[in-house]
Amino acid sequence: MTTLLDTLSRRSQPSPARGREVLRERGQREVFCGLTGIVWLHRKIQDAFFLVVGSRTCAHLIQSAAGVMVFAEPRFATAIMEERDLAGLADANEELDRVVDELLARRPEIRMLFLVGSCPSEVIKLDLSRAAQRLSKKHAPDLRVINYSGSGIETTFTQGEDACLAALAPEAPVAPAGAPPSLLVVGALPDIVEDQFRRLFADLGIPRVDFFPPRRSGDMPPIGPSTRFLLAQPFLGDTAQQLEARGAVRLPALFPFGVEGTTAWLKAAADAWGVAPATFAAVVGPGQERGRRAVERHRAALEGKRLFLFPDSQLEPSLGRFLARELGMTLIEIGTPYLNRTLLAQELDALPEGVVLSEGQDVDRQLDRCRAARPDLVVCGLGLANPLEAEGIATKWSIELVFSPVHGFDQAGDLAGLFARPLRRHALLRV
Ligand code: SF4
Repeated sequence: MTTLLDTLSRRSQPSPARGREVLRERGQREVFCGLTGIVWLHRKIQDAFFLVVGSRTCAHLIQSAAGVMVFAEPRFATAIMEERDLAGLADANEELDRVVDELLARRPEIRMLFLVGSCPSEVIKLDLSRAAQRLSKKHAPDLRVINYSGSGIETTFTQGEDACLAALAPEAPVAPAGAPPSLLVVGALPDIVEDQFRRLFADLGIPRVDFFPPRRSGDMPPIGPSTRFLLAQPFLGDTAQQLEARGAVRLPALFPFGVEGTTAWLKAAADAWGVAPATFAAVVGPGQERGRRAVERHRAALEGKRLFLFPDSQLEPSLGRFLARELGMTLIEIGTPYLNRTLLAQELDALPEGVVLSEGQDVDRQLDRCRAARPDLVVCGLGLANPLEAEGIATKWSIELVFSPVHGFDQAGDLAGLFARPLRRHALLRV
């Protein structure tokens, strides 16, 4: 659902990032909340269950976002807080324990339970971390209970994954002292993409590679000073901090979107393991070639077209870099809900001159800038897409970019295609 925040203290002010001016905006925002991440996280960790402690609105959001799961046995649900809970007339903790008992009786195969906080649970200050500790004790050793917040208070939708993985990181075993270096890839990737990367790292000769989160909760990778990690998504700042607190070392790189981003990302790992340049070129060459050919098929539709990205997924700077450098699009404005200058340092350096970078949102002002610029394509959330389409501007829903496999060489063409399609559709409708 849309969150409206901070309208009274709205302000826009420039601030520098890697020598670039950044327009910082604090006004009304149009974003989904962090509960959305459950849709892809529950597919990734296959013995986990996500129990949202929230309202009917939260339940509707999850059900409509994950509508395709209707025929499957879902691994998410909402413990709906009724008026009695909100008014403090019922003991919310007792209710929660009862709901969890019922759930486990029906789904004994669940090994990890996430209690996901929401706006309503935060408003009544329901302490889900204590509830998680209590329930973990009660159901140990068969079940681990972890809590995180997916609420829409001060978040955008990809922060749900960051909050989930940041809560999960302390659960990983400690890598023993003197353990040989291992590579950890961080971010919930579709299995097919994970398998492709696993093969590439094996061909590069990197002996131990783990993915976080793991597919099964019992396969948590050991983490410690011998761990080198690559972020697969730019929105995992809190998770990165948790890993660094365990002594793990981040390998800075572009993110693996497009051929250039994927090459730089793999190179960061290759350099950390001292892989010879010739070996690297031989391993990545075929993928680069396939990726370039697939991207090239969309150049005619995208080259020279003017692009405006509204802040939503936090992928915006990486996508802007890919679309400008590999497809020749002209960037007007790159908006992002938060700009982590450390994690995005390489991305900011790779952006062309002249693009406006904005952080946060004041949606009316941003819409004014967008309308004045008359871009060919706008990347935005669902709430803005329909009104802009009605004004004759082609749009791409940014949420599709986290639901679709878009990382790596073999998805680079599909990623370009996601942006070319709305332009083609728009051209057909105009004929
Ligand atoms: S967590 Fe908050 S923003 Fe998200 S669906 Fe529930 S009430 Fe709406």
